Amino acid sequence: MQHAMTPTPDVLVCGGGLAGTMAAIAAARQGAKTLLVERYGFLGGNATGGAVAQFNCWQTAAGRRVIAGLAQEVVDRLETYGAARPHDVFVMSTGHPMDRVEYATEVLKLVLDDMVTDAGVTALLHTQLLDVNARNDRIETVRLLTKGGIVTVEPRVVIDTSGDMDVLHKAGARFLALDEGDSLQPATMMFRFGPIDFARLDALSPDEVQALAREGFEAGELARAALHLARDPFSQDAWFNISRLGIDATDTYALSRAEIEGRRQAWRAAQFLQRAVPGCEGGRLQAFATQVGIRETRRIHGDHVLTAEELVQPPPFDDTIALGAYPIDIHPAVGGELIYTPMGDDHAYQIPYRSLIPQGLANALVAGRGISATHAALAAIRVMTISMAVGQAAGTAAAQACASGGGDVRRVDVPALQRQLQAQGALLA
Ligand SMILES: Cc1cc2nc3c(=O)[nH]c(=O)nc-3n(C[C@H](O)[C@H](O)[C@H](O)COP(=O)(O)OP(=O)(O)OC[C@H]3O[C@@H](n4cnc5c(N)ncnc54)[C@H](O)[C@@H]3O)c2cc1C
Repeated sequence: MQHAMTPTPDVLVCGGGLAGTMAAIAAARQGAKTLLVERYGFLGGNATGGAVAQFNCWQTAAGRRVIAGLAQEVVDRLETYGAARPHDVFVMSTGHPMDRVEYATEVLKLVLDDMVTDAGVTALLHTQLLDVNARNDRIETVRLLTKGGIVTVEPRVVIDTSGDMDVLHKAGARFLALDEGDSLQPATMMFRFGPIDFARLDALSPDEVQALAREGFEAGELARAALHLARDPFSQDAWFNISRLGIDATDTYALSRAEIEGRRQAWRAAQFLQRAVPGCEGGRLQAFATQVGIRETRRIHGDHVLTAEELVQPPPFDDTIALGAYPIDIHPAVGGELIYTPMGDDHAYQIPYRSLIPQGLANALVAGRGISATHAALAAIRVMTISMAVGQAAGTAAAQACASGGGDVRRVDVPALQRQLQAQGALLA
């Protein structure tokens, strides 16, 4: 059934994860008529449906802030619901310190609802991308499969925030290959476990935690040698990040098998927690994430490919649209460990606007985990704080492209974009 209406938004944002939701809010706040499309009945992507439950790395190890803007507004609004724990620093399984804000994943859905509604974004939920018609260097129409039938949209600018870059894949865009010997980072089925006696669990030293994690991994009860968790602000439960599924999540069969195997791994891990981990004896598995969390799939080939070397020794980009400080944190597809490259104490890096622009297309941008970056660079910039900052930049740029660039994202006045982002509270230096 073909739906009669043909919406003509200025900006179509496809994918309502954190990158897409921030992009849509930023575009609408700049006055662009904005349509946000999401396949689930709620926004947030990995942050809600994937139950990741903690925003990492707002600052350098020395305490210099690198992320603010809309990302901070999300935390402020979570706090008004009492749904964020105080910003703190914890010790990672690698022994390195890391700052974070833990939050209630269900309340984040409500916060994102509030923010898109207040900004005047039209959110089309339960809507899946169907196909894309691209001619020459423009995406002309996008067809969406909704509950009410097929809707054809004629946007001026499209932002692909589907994580898997489904819009650009269907538009025939160019993607980056994995480097030789690399494989995609694995997926993880997060699970909620509790109640936990945190006084006893927190009394364990990092070495004791690591020894327990290794025992569970070697016994085949944990798929990953870690007891990585984020606490729920409302209860004595925590979301555990200790399953590991080496798949290409754009392969539907592999993704389906991973959902099943992910729940099995989570169940085994919960039995291990109960049996072997002090403070967890009285707990049980309370919930699985709505879907397996995806760290990496397609990465677009953009006007600039951000590399790990550029994170470690940042060149002076003149089109910086966001900062980051998160280390290069590669979860290998097999084995229990992490490959972790910490950044220096007060080290931050920049993300250039050109990494958001797909080669060969004039009216498209990307944000979130599919931006133009190598496998190793993505392992740093994929975190939710940076995804939100890049989303804010993409939405602001798309609105500017509509207002003064004839819908061409390369005609955006980058210094004006940077001034606008800073006026919105984003940090660029
Ligand atoms: C297990 C795990 C643990 C992590 N741990 C942390 C952590 O501790 N701290 C941290 O800050 N970050 C962490 N990350 C990274 C972070 O969660 C992600 O990189 C980030 O959320 C990516 O956001 P995104 O908006 O780009 O993508 P996603 O969150 O993947 O959002 C994509 C959205 O697009 C929608 N979508 C996809 N395809 C379609 C389609 N065809 N049609 C319509 N809608 C579509 C999806 O439903 C989803 O809502 C973790 C990630 C995982 C998977």
